[in-house]
Amino acid sequence: MKENILIPKPNSAFLNIQCSKCGENNIIYSHTTSNIYCKSCNELIAERSGGKAKINGNIISALD
Ligand SMILES: [Zn+2]
Repeated sequence: MKENILIPKPNSAFLNIQCSKCGENNIIYSHTTSNIYCKSCNELIAERSGGKAKINGNIISALD
């Protein structure tokens, strides 16, 4: 007997985030376990939250 269990799609992805302060693009992991700072100006752009990170910039695109 075939089981028909839907496996939820992982909600995680790599995101291309544009820093709201300097405009630099940064690739971050959406479920990062550490805070991520802009590589250019050190602004906090992704804050770890136990699940999906809180994004403090503009999400340009998601990469998979
Ligand atoms: Zn920046």
